[in-house]
Amino acid sequence: MNKRTIIIVVAGVLASEVAWHFYKKYKNKIWQPANRTRAKVLFSSEESVLCKPHLKSRIPCERNHCPVRTLNELQRVMTSATQSLDVCVYFLTHPILIDAIVEVFNKNVPVRIITDGDMSDNSSSTGHILKLRRHGIKVRTKKFDYYMHHKFAVVDKRILITGSTNWTKNGFFGNYENIIISNQSDLSKAFSDEFERLWEIFDRPENDFPPKLEN
Ligand SMILES: [Zn+2]
Repeated sequence: MNKRTIIIVVAGVLASEVAWHFYKKYKNKIWQPANRTRAKVLFSSEESVLCKPHLKSRIPCERNHCPVRTLNELQRVMTSATQSLDVCVYFLTHPILIDAIVEVFNKNVPVRIITDGDMSDNSSSTGHILKLRRHGIKVRTKKFDYYMHHKFAVVDKRILITGSTNWTKNGFFGNYENIIISNQSDLSKAFSDEFERLWEIFDRPENDFPPKLEN
């Protein structure tokens, strides 16, 4: 290897290190207040089921509606929380999203979850809700009368995640669905306000499904 080649290789390595440093530093800034209002729309479709095999690698494919890309984006936005994470979803069983919630909680960021009581009492969901409560995460549920059918989350009271998708494996890999991520302040404030309202009215022992842990 001649001197010129060595210089080119070293320069290439240094350039990629610098690029990686800036990517890590600024990867979440795109949603910061100083930036312009942004919204991103992500779909699941008839082609999304084909992506199941590469969920394990977490590397998205070239398909427009690759749900692995959607899950990575949701994880990235949720784990960017530094002030609060409020999650209000009908059905919560997707392990990547549950792990993202736990990761935020483990950074000592306040996390609150509202979910539907009937779904929390469902055999595929109960274990996940208990796991979250075991971590110490506050979960409130609503049983009877009406479904708690929302699917939204608010990060730091600034970034809204909403849409039709249930936070389950089928929600991402088996249906026609949509997710919108937006830092538009009037949207995030409206959803934050509604979260606060629901958080208060669901604070009833009779709503706790599955029952809270004794600790
Ligand atoms: Zn894919």
